[in-house]
Amino acid sequence: MIQTKIMNIFLKTSNILCKNQPHYVTRFLLPSLARPVCTSAPDPSDKVRVRFAPSPTGFMHLGGLRTALFNYLFAKSHGGKFILRIEDTDQERLVEGAMERIYQDLKWAGIVPDESPWNEGPYGPYVQSLRYDIYKQEVKKLMEDGRAYYCFCSERRLDLLRKEAVRLRQVPKYDNKCRHLTPGQIAERLAKNDKFCIRFKLDSKADEFQDMIYGKIVYFLAQNEGDPVIIKSDGFPTYHFANVVDDHYMKITHVLRGVEWQISTPKHIQMFHAFGWRPPNYAHLPLVMNPNGSKLSKRQGDVQLDHYRKMGIFPQALLNFITQSGGGFDRDMIDIVGPQMTDLVQHFDIKKINAHSSRLNTDLLKQCNREEIAYQLKHTPEKAEALVKEVIRLVQTEFSDHIKSLDLDEKHVRDVLEWSITRIDSLQDLVKGKLSFLWVLPRRSKDTSVDSGTLEVLAKNLASEDDIEFTKAEISGFLKAFAERNRIAFDLLMKSLRNCLSGLKEGPGVAEMMEILGRDKTIERILLAAKRK
Ligand code: GLU
Repeated sequence: MIQTKIMNIFLKTSNILCKNQPHYVTRFLLPSLARPVCTSAPDPSDKVRVRFAPSPTGFMHLGGLRTALFNYLFAKSHGGKFILRIEDTDQERLVEGAMERIYQDLKWAGIVPDESPWNEGPYGPYVQSLRYDIYKQEVKKLMEDGRAYYCFCSERRLDLLRKEAVRLRQVPKYDNKCRHLTPGQIAERLAKNDKFCIRFKLDSKADEFQDMIYGKIVYFLAQNEGDPVIIKSDGFPTYHFANVVDDHYMKITHVLRGVEWQISTPKHIQMFHAFGWRPPNYAHLPLVMNPNGSKLSKRQGDVQLDHYRKMGIFPQALLNFITQSGGGFDRDMIDIVGPQMTDLVQHFDIKKINAHSSRLNTDLLKQCNREEIAYQLKHTPEKAEALVKEVIRLVQTEFSDHIKSLDLDEKHVRDVLEWSITRIDSLQDLVKGKLSFLWVLPRRSKDTSVDSGTLEVLAKNLASEDDIEFTKAEISGFLKAFAERNRIAFDLLMKSLRNCLSGLKEGPGVAEMMEILGRDKTIERILLAAKRK
């Protein structure tokens, strides 16, 4: 009775307060008539529903991508749904464009949500800032049940508490002072329009839950923390509160999230219980670290997805790279070269995720990209065609000065691609350094290993002996015989030819270069070099 009375005062006072408040506060505090559509808690027999719930406070990095991927794989391997929910309650830290970019990044990676702000399902809205009416109603329930209370403590008091705890070498925590305010005191403070937040009353019993990855977790929450704020003084819900309410109303059955959130889980479970709801199952994913063991950060450029995209890393390669850090797959997966999303879904097993943090191994990324290029070339005609087009684009951009002399016949480009598969980490490598000879004539450089007359004879022989197939093996035999016949040291001949063909001191084998360049281009380059001598 008294509680209800105070709630009414809360609503009334809030309305008064709203007049001078920004629009979003009004939205939150005004009573709403509509009840959320869904009221039942997830049932174990429910179809799996998982969510990826990023805050748009930065762009997605590899850690976020791993969380999204594992949620997706878990859902798809159970015939369930993967949901994208945007957690934007921390309005001060929002980064412009981040929300849209997260969605685009997911789509780029092939992790397409079944429900999201862009394709709403039955439990929307999927952006927390559009759900304030729901949080407002839910907090009312906790207030009425005595599980939440007004806190009027000032920042100054909280700061003093923190300082005192530090002085006494204790863990700083709120002392729950306002738990003990009488209804009269509350009414008085509200009537004075004093600033308040709303806190959740923690239970003091031990908290226990079964983490699907870490096993049984026991934590004495109330001993380590004061009652948490669930509605901030600006009227916004905190992450913890909105997260619990949404997981319930969006019928989330399993929460797979980074281990940094594990410490918050007992708090979330307490809130579920306070509402009388069944909590979802929790699985915390171990940390993914940089190769040097430091933590990944949203502000760290080289782990953001865009960085990899620009490097020419294919999305599937990036996913495969992530799956190779920290487990999650059965043994058969190891035998698959260039696994695709369907393979990942088929072989994903949450029980195989180990609880140790893992470090990224950048060499693996190159291997994954190579395997993916090979896969696309061999198994997906459409993607193979796109690869050829992309190589043409890269060559034209890189060698725009030579545009007329470039051999960009699709067949040739495809041959080059097939030949280069074991040599490149990304398509960009085809137009750089050692492989630039594929597209443009080598620069002029002085080489005296073999005289020009010999080179001319060699070119003539190559032209006339068209019964030799222009393959690495046949060319090798031909070159050896030529060196013997003309009494030239074989290594000198090779050195000279390398110079004619690529102008470089190292790179692929000479016979190999000749094979990939083809008879005509080889002869052309040898004659050109002979002329320059
Ligand atoms: N919004 C949280 C984040 O940015 C989500 C945590 C969770 O999945 O519960 O990571």
